[in-house]
Amino acid sequence: MRKTALRRVLACPLEEGKELAPLSALGVGGRCEFFAEPSKLADVAALFQARVLEGFPIYILGGGTNTVFADGEIEGVVLSTLRLSACCWSVEGSRLQGELEAEAGYPLPLVVAAARKEGLGGAEFAQGIPGTLAGAVAGNAGAGGSSVGDLLDEVTTVEANGEIRGWRRGEFHCSYRFFSLASPTRFIAACKLKFWKKNPKEIQRDESAFLRARAGQPRGVRSAGCAFKNPPGDSAGRLLDACGCKGLRVGGAAVSGVHANFLLNEGGAAGGDVFRLVTLCRDIVFGKTGILLEPEIKFMGFPE
Ligand SMILES: Cc1cc2nc3c(=O)[nH]c(=O)nc-3n(C[C@H](O)[C@H](O)[C@H](O)COP(=O)(O)OP(=O)(O)OC[C@H]3O[C@@H](n4cnc5c(N)ncnc54)[C@H](O)[C@@H]3O)c2cc1C
Repeated sequence: MRKTALRRVLACPLEEGKELAPLSALGVGGRCEFFAEPSKLADVAALFQARVLEGFPIYILGGGTNTVFADGEIEGVVLSTLRLSACCWSVEGSRLQGELEAEAGYPLPLVVAAARKEGLGGAEFAQGIPGTLAGAVAGNAGAGGSSVGDLLDEVTTVEANGEIRGWRRGEFHCSYRFFSLASPTRFIAACKLKFWKKNPKEIQRDESAFLRARAGQPRGVRSAGCAFKNPPGDSAGRLLDACGCKGLRVGGAAVSGVHANFLLNEGGAAGGDVFRLVTLCRDIVFGKTGILLEPEIKFMGFPE
């Protein structure tokens, strides 16, 4: 019934039982009931309208670099943004500023590289952050006190009922790893970012500084970036380290010995291992300090 309804409304292919682990940086998780990767926004709107009638869950997936999938079969549709990746750069004649209008799945590393090429500043902080533009906007990804929300000027969304809506700056707000429009029932379809003219040498220098700041992070490993948000006035990594979490392990998931806020898939980890390790670390830190760490990584398909 659900399959028939989905096939009727979607112009894009609908895959059944797709393996999810290869779609995430952490490489954990089972399969999804349905997987759709549309290249047209009309398909996203149709899918959201179908959900209103049929009541199935939709999980929005960008680059999967901040996501932990549950094991087993995840009911509903995993909706990938990777084929929605058109972009348009415009630089004013005076080159005082520039704009990028891009769809959800446009890769964040391309934002950094293209801005540098155009001589536009603003995206240097994102050097080294993987994933898509909308994934970054949804979590207001950032580094060193800067974040993508600083550049965000307009957002186009698909609302829960399938309506396509535009939002201007002032109608949304961003703070540390928070974007006010982010919601599991709202699709970030496209964004407009604003940049300013900057000397290419200064762009290179500042990008290098952001990269150097990553020197203390684990490399060449399977992770989803920082597992927890920093609590006000402190660092989650410092707290986890001080509470003895480095090296903790559940199944194939372990807390990095290099940086305690990175949880790794050291081989054969299940989504449940990562979930239990996050819970264990959070409980240890809370028990020793009274500070309740909030996960930065997103869990998909786990019970509430
Ligand atoms: C090595 C490494 C380093 C990292 N460093 C940083 C860092 O310095 N700073 C930082 O902030 N993060 C960092 N991250 C985390 C991650 O890369 C970022 O959060 C990234 O912006 C997530 O983008 P994504 O496309 O992969 O999102 P996904 O993991 O696919 O999704 C993340 C969340 O966004 C939602 N989402 C995605 N697309 C949409 C959409 N179109 N509409 C609505 N919701 C959507 C998803 O539903 C999910 O809840 C790092 C990750 C890794 C692996």
